[in-house]
Amino acid sequence: MRQWRWLNRCYAFIGGYFWLPCPICGRYFGGHEWSESLYLGYGSGRGTCPWCVEETKRRNAEYWAGPAGHEERRVLSERYSRYSADAEPRG
Ligand SMILES: [Zn+2]
Repeated sequence: MRQWRWLNRCYAFIGGYFWLPCPICGRYFGGHEWSESLYLGYGSGRGTCPWCVEETKRRNAEYWAGPAGHEERRVLSERYSRYSADAEPRG
């Protein structure tokens, strides 16, 4: 698949897609090839290349199982419960 990188680069340029290095392996890939996102916490993330799909899933699972993921879940559920308690009943 590596020999077709130039074609994908042309496709990205013509189609207006990004052409950026993968945050995991550093290989350049186009926005049209993007399938997974590496979660960076609190709603932000970066797209990863097609060769790093499994590694992306592994790192995302590791994030949610680790201390940062637990803290994020705690903060979000606290915000959500506060929002729910303050909400005016509709009707
Ligand atoms: Zn990659």
